Amino acid sequence: MAKRDFYDILGVNRDASEEEIKKAYRKLAMKYHPDRNPDNPRSEEHFKEVKEAYEILSDGQKRAAYDQYGHAGVDPQAGMGAAGAGGFSDAFGGIFDEIFGGGRGARSNVYRGADLRYNLEVTLEQAAFGTETKIRIPTMEVCDACRGSGAKAGTQPKTCPTCQGSGQVRLQQGFFSIQQTCPKCHGTGRFIADPCAPCHGAGRVKQHKTLAVKIPAGVDEGDRIRLSSEGEHGVNGGPSGDLYVQIHLKAHSVFQREQNDLHCEMPISFTTAALGGEIDIPTLDGAAKIRVPPETQSGKTFRLRGKGIKGVRSHAHGDLLCHVVVETPVHLTERQKELLRELEESSRENSDQHNPRAKSWMDRVRDFFAAT
Ligand SMILES: [Zn+2]
Ligand SMILES: [Zn+2]
Repeated sequence: MAKRDFYDILGVNRDASEEEIKKAYRKLAMKYHPDRNPDNPRSEEHFKEVKEAYEILSDGQKRAAYDQYGHAGVDPQAGMGAAGAGGFSDAFGGIFDEIFGGGRGARSNVYRGADLRYNLEVTLEQAAFGTETKIRIPTMEVCDACRGSGAKAGTQPKTCPTCQGSGQVRLQQGFFSIQQTCPKCHGTGRFIADPCAPCHGAGRVKQHKTLAVKIPAGVDEGDRIRLSSEGEHGVNGGPSGDLYVQIHLKAHSVFQREQNDLHCEMPISFTTAALGGEIDIPTLDGAAKIRVPPETQSGKTFRLRGKGIKGVRSHAHGDLLCHVVVETPVHLTERQKELLRELEESSRENSDQHNPRAKSWMDRVRDFFAAT
């Protein structure tokens, strides 16, 4: 799919001022922010688009490159001889090397670190009231042994002999000379003869870090909490990526959550259903009582206003909905069975009156057969 024009994405003119661009970005970023549109994958796409457009247009140099060369001026994939999954500065460097004939020495391959995602399971109560928890995540830290150089202690990385430190090699192809990332040093311009053992020459080693995460009250399945700059480290001084903590709710033994409402099943004996009574029910903030009126049928729902969850983005509390299930008694004694038969016997005369649902059903069945 062709990339959309950055000015179109932000809905501004090509001569828009910095202030206008910033304003347009703020408005669209608010509109499409994934936290505000948790169930809409399209809005995440929009959000990324808007963010990318703003990153380019808010930077004078990058904007100039985009104005002159379009996406090729700023897109790492479109950049000439860009090394791998480079960031902007890589492609920018590539273009200017082409235009001004290089000669700036080793190119600075500055990349922003990747964003990371961490899946965090929380209980319904933790999601409802908020919590603070610690997570342990793997991270690449600067190697102590070589202080990040990748060269064995006491030695130094040398200038790459293949590219003389430029990180690029030129290949002649017919009339054209094509610039490519140096295959020996992969664009770093340096060559390590004696790699550091603990990090195998990478300059970084895998470690773990522990982060405190504050879970705001009301979060729901799929919500994400952004920990700014806690993602992967940038390369060569580039900014770190972000860490997204994605919320998953554990199943609860009593409640099912639907947005900010809670649902629960409320089994009642058929005596209570017939005669009425008071039932204790659990809520997230303690026990509550429900008065079950006489002649309550299975399937009736009692709604306790405000006993649900207060959403993270709304100010209103959800409700608690208790669904009545009338339970058929089991393991009856002979005496109990006798009483039930007596009850049945005594109500046989006026069966329709005592069983309105059965009557209505029988009527409909009769009509159905009559019509066929
Ligand atoms: Zn090392
Ligand atoms: Zn090289």
